[in-house]
Amino acid sequence: MEERIYLDHAAAMPVHPGVARFCRQFPDGFAGNPSTIYREGLQAQEAVATARERVAALVGTSAPDSIIFTSGATESNNIAIRGAALRNRKFGKRVVASATEHISVLNPAKDIQKGGFALTLAPVDRFGTIDLDALAAAVTPGTVITSIHHANNEIGTIQPIREVSAIVHEQGGLLHVDATDAAGRIPIDVERDGIDLLTLSGNQLGGPDGVGALYIRPGVRVQPVLVGGGQERGLRPGTENVFAIACMGEAARLAGEEMAGESKRLAAIRDRLIAGITGIEEAYLTGHPEERLPHHASFRFSRIEGESIQLAMDMLGIAVATGSACTSRTLEASHVLLAIGLAHAEAHGSMVATLGRRNSMDEVPRIVGAVGETVKRLRAITPL
Ligand code: PMP
Repeated sequence: MEERIYLDHAAAMPVHPGVARFCRQFPDGFAGNPSTIYREGLQAQEAVATARERVAALVGTSAPDSIIFTSGATESNNIAIRGAALRNRKFGKRVVASATEHISVLNPAKDIQKGGFALTLAPVDRFGTIDLDALAAAVTPGTVITSIHHANNEIGTIQPIREVSAIVHEQGGLLHVDATDAAGRIPIDVERDGIDLLTLSGNQLGGPDGVGALYIRPGVRVQPVLVGGGQERGLRPGTENVFAIACMGEAARLAGEEMAGESKRLAAIRDRLIAGITGIEEAYLTGHPEERLPHHASFRFSRIEGESIQLAMDMLGIAVATGSACTSRTLEASHVLLAIGLAHAEAHGSMVATLGRRNSMDEVPRIVGAVGETVKRLRAITPL
């Protein structure tokens, strides 16, 4: 039995072995509640404070208090969009987001329209890069918040965040950046890039699931989405998940330490995969050919369905994605692939491979061979 090859790190990442080692130091978790002042509470408080410093360092801020911990990227995106728009509504009631944002950005942005906000979706080009002229036209003087992801989880395209920031700030509004897929893969510097709010996920850094963070630039006002106690400056009330937060902090530290070397290693594997798979008949790369995440390779194949590719690849021992795991239960074509100009039928034939630390160059021939075999077999039986 050949070993399985896992190529869906954008959906879920195995915990980094260094993080697992760190977590094993606390087999019983943390005894105290960080809101208390006796020794056990102070120990928990210290674990959260250390994690805050580590996450702050990863994103380039010298102000650890600008980081709040949440239950994941979805919650961070909700607090950023809803919380900042509602708190600053006097500034204006327009929200702008790119058409290729994750649904955890698009859905809160759509939802606050019920509260009288207007939403403009900014278009991207055929590589998935935000159209800066169209963005400049979309961001009006009353645009309270603009949300542009650092990099896309379905097509890997990295956005020109500094240029985006200049456009947004020229009108005086706030910039939110969902960096779920970019953090730990490419350098992020909230101060240099002029980012007001930034979303991070614990798992995408090699830490546990169900924990995330939101950077809020000092001075930016946000109102809570969930109301309760005063934890996380009242913005994320409820007793902190101290164990997960501590482990996310260690993941952020290791990601920062290993990013340069690991991203270079993965980019070489990615490039070999792209070269091999685009050599298959009627196979095309989706997303940007150069400005793309180092671990990300995404494709479309004519005349076949992504789900069939996924099932056939699974039988050959390889786990791939067809798009975002978060929307995979709907049968609709991906909004990201439609936004880059693909027709519905084209958008259905997609396959995404996202690499991680266990993948190696040695696996490339088997992956390319399996994709080639799958595509050929499916095309022979397709009614399309
Ligand atoms: N934003 C982006 C860009 C993502 O890729 C994801 C996860 N695929 C999320 C948000 C949501 O993350 P979570 O499920 O951890 O809330």
